[in-house]
Amino acid sequence: MHLILLGPPGGGKGTQAKRLQDEYGLVQLSTGDMLRAAVASGSEIGKQAKAVMEAGKLVSDDIVIGIIADRIKQPDAKKGFILDGFPRTVAQAEALDKMLTERKLKIDAAIEVRVPDTMIVERITGRFTCAKCGAGYHDKFQRPKADGVCDACGGREFVRRADDNAATVQSRLDAYHAQTAPILPFYDKKGVLKVVDGTLPIEEVTKRLRDIVEGSAVS
Ligand code: ADP
Ligand code: ADP
Ligand code: ZN
Repeated sequence: MHLILLGPPGGGKGTQAKRLQDEYGLVQLSTGDMLRAAVASGSEIGKQAKAVMEAGKLVSDDIVIGIIADRIKQPDAKKGFILDGFPRTVAQAEALDKMLTERKLKIDAAIEVRVPDTMIVERITGRFTCAKCGAGYHDKFQRPKADGVCDACGGREFVRRADDNAATVQSRLDAYHAQTAPILPFYDKKGVLKVVDGTLPIEEVTKRLRDIVEGSAVS
């Protein structure tokens, strides 16, 4: 099974990808997480990506296509994957298509998690994650069961992303509409585009995604 989650920044892609990976034995491939790891490690790619990410712009196609090409060759990707945050431009979608065709693989579903821009500032400014295990939370919509303690690992340290502030949200949304939304017709033409209402509560969105995943698994 090979899935793509599309949608605006803060739309819930990472939250849902983590749930689906656990339920269906897939691996979540998040270019945002990979790029943040590169920035943290101080690698050459990290140095090139840091300022671009902090400004809410897209990192160059060459860099992210290279990262994904390496990642899908890893043994764990053989069990199937959920792409979260990639592709983000038509050039990335085309490059992905080529990589999959070479491996005789195809995308089973490209799912747009649709959330209006007006809801995005609150989603993004309230987001935080566990420093130890990466579990995602929200100040209002997804608080840990016990204040200050990660549900998943018991960790007590949490982090907020450098780019998760009201100032960068607009440029990230602009990048989404100008550069990423144009890939929706690309998947629609292939007959694999699905849309889910990302304004629903987290569990409701997961239910709708399950229906799509289970529907495309039998087809
Ligand atoms: P993305 O990966 O698309 O950027 P996230 O999955 O990180 O988005 O979600 C952004 C923030 O919104 C997180 O803090 C998350 O807990 C919260 N969130 C995700 N889905 C929902 C939802 N359906 N309703 C309310 N809050 C949500
Ligand atoms: P979100 O969906 O919450 O905006 P991500 O974690 O997917 O965040 O991405 C964070 C930042 O990393 C993006 O704003 C962009 O600068 C960079 N990035 C991630 N994935 C890509 C990609 N496929 N192409 C270009 N830049 C990317
Ligand atoms: Zn944790």
